[in-house]
Amino acid sequence: MTTHGLFIDGTWGPSASGRTFAVENPATGETIAMVADGDGTDARRAIEVAGARQLDWSRSAPRERGEILRRTYEIIVDRTDELAALITAEMGKPLAEARGEVMYGAEFFRWFAEEAVRIGGDHTLSGDGRTRILVTKGPVGPCVLVTPWNFPLAMGARKIGPAVAAGCTMVFKPAEQTPLTSLALTRILTEAGLPAGVLNVVTTSGPGGVVGPWMRSGIARKISFTGSTDVGRLLLAQAAENVMRSSMELGGNAPFLVCEDAALDRAVEGAVTAKMRNMGEACTAANRFFVHQSVAGEFSAKLGERMSALKVADGTTRGAEVGPLIDRAGLEKVERLVDDAVRRGASVVVGGSRLSGHGYFYAPTVLADVPTDASLMSTEIFGPVAPIIPFDDEDEAVRLANDTDWGLVGYVFTTDLDRAFRLGEALDVGMVGVNTGLVSNPAAPFGGVKHSGLGREGGRAGIEEYLESKYLAMPRS
Ligand code: NAD
Repeated sequence: MTTHGLFIDGTWGPSASGRTFAVENPATGETIAMVADGDGTDARRAIEVAGARQLDWSRSAPRERGEILRRTYEIIVDRTDELAALITAEMGKPLAEARGEVMYGAEFFRWFAEEAVRIGGDHTLSGDGRTRILVTKGPVGPCVLVTPWNFPLAMGARKIGPAVAAGCTMVFKPAEQTPLTSLALTRILTEAGLPAGVLNVVTTSGPGGVVGPWMRSGIARKISFTGSTDVGRLLLAQAAENVMRSSMELGGNAPFLVCEDAALDRAVEGAVTAKMRNMGEACTAANRFFVHQSVAGEFSAKLGERMSALKVADGTTRGAEVGPLIDRAGLEKVERLVDDAVRRGASVVVGGSRLSGHGYFYAPTVLADVPTDASLMSTEIFGPVAPIIPFDDEDEAVRLANDTDWGLVGYVFTTDLDRAFRLGEALDVGMVGVNTGLVSNPAAPFGGVKHSGLGREGGRAGIEEYLESKYLAMPRS
């Protein structure tokens, strides 16, 4: 079995302790690789390297950085099948979806290859005309990158792409469940010409023991985190100590609104996309379906029909549409949430239980007439469960949709243009899908409000997160 090392200062090697940990295939429960188990000693070495390399890297030519990113994009595209197989093996999503993630992730490198040479500045005169104000932009400095397991390639791409484009060095800790794709990506970046020490990767089974020393180091100037709101909060508190720039892509509790005038078949297709991408294990997953009472019955029936027809299988099986959940804890959480909703009065339209056999499979599920006090209304389900809650009028739908601490994304299905704008504006979220169940796009600013996070990834805003402004005051003589 392959054992993968840490990547520090351009060299692969074992962890200081020599310990390793296992990576498991969630469809079979089998160990597929061993990975170096980094700790504080490795973490300190990595951040020191990132700190030492920062000045040189910040002086590199934007075109050079852009070309490294462009080559990275091309190599990823060339190796789509290989990378998709790795994602499926360690994370479980069906191969077709894994290929989709590879292309989505690759596009961030292409986007930021183009951004690297477009870093601008500003030149104005003070109000009294006596001072020239020259604003330049430079890299914020060494960055701490921490990613979750649900999109092992894309989550790293959304951070490494802009950090390289801006000229930041990095220390990177991928999720313990899915480090293999990140290590493959690291090899690709090296092949594409990324200089030694710019990206340093420490895998670990004890995240606090690696990320903590980075946050306390005083060397890192920024943290970019994607993951749960609880861990995000902890890292924000740690960032406060050294007043670090912080980008937080945290959890969601997306409302999905179906109005009485919606094109129902389109809404059903949008619902399947918004719910079932990644088996429901996405921060953007529709978590609560608010459907006008006049169409709730028909919508539930149609969605139930579509969901029960989905092919649930090991991600490598031909035609698989729904893979296993990431681990036992994830499966048991979904079970608990569905049981709770049913106990409180929800009815099961389809699914409603785990599937027997190996792996952490849960049946695609539709629940109708879910009461608003059910736990899944205020918890990220992270599984293939669509709870439907009927509403009477638009005001009620907006009130229910916004009645949550999160605010990442919302979905609105209506054929009335005024209503689409009205609802889009009324939802307390960072992104709105109008008659679509998919908002993720490298050219768009991805991110949320409230407890869903701070900052944006992608679009023109994406690189700004890694840039600091400096202003030069020059009197006119
Ligand atoms: P998680 O918060 O448990 O883990 C995320 C990362 O944080 C992992 O790398 C983990 O090792 C690390 N981590 C855990 N404890 C830590 C600690 N004490 N100190 C430092 N790092 C620590 O989240 P997860 O279960 O991997 O991912 C699922 C969550 O991620 C969901 O809440 C989901 O909504 C969110 N997510 C958000 C986005 C977004 O863009 N908003 C995208 C994908 C996932």
